[in-house]
Amino acid sequence: MVLNYMEVCVKDYLEKTLNSDKNYANICTCPQCLDDIMAKSLNSLKPYYITSKKGEVFAEYSSLEKQHNAEVITAVINALEFVSKHKNHN
Ligand SMILES: [Zn+2]
Repeated sequence: MVLNYMEVCVKDYLEKTLNSDKNYANICTCPQCLDDIMAKSLNSLKPYYITSKKGEVFAEYSSLEKQHNAEVITAVINALEFVSKHKNHN
């Protein structure tokens, strides 16, 4: 199985931010907006593909998360700001 590790990082960080950061408490979190935020974040990040056997991936690659943390945070925050101002629905 091949997956883009950035997708895991973005999803993780997005969930954390939406759950804990009051600045984004009013943001729309419907599936459409979450997908838009994910897509926009991932488009601004270089993909990092890894192979995984069920569940084993996360321990092995967890150091990568620290390495890419700053980029992921910037990408997610920019996407959050953008999507909150340009919703794809009413
Ligand atoms: Zn929405």
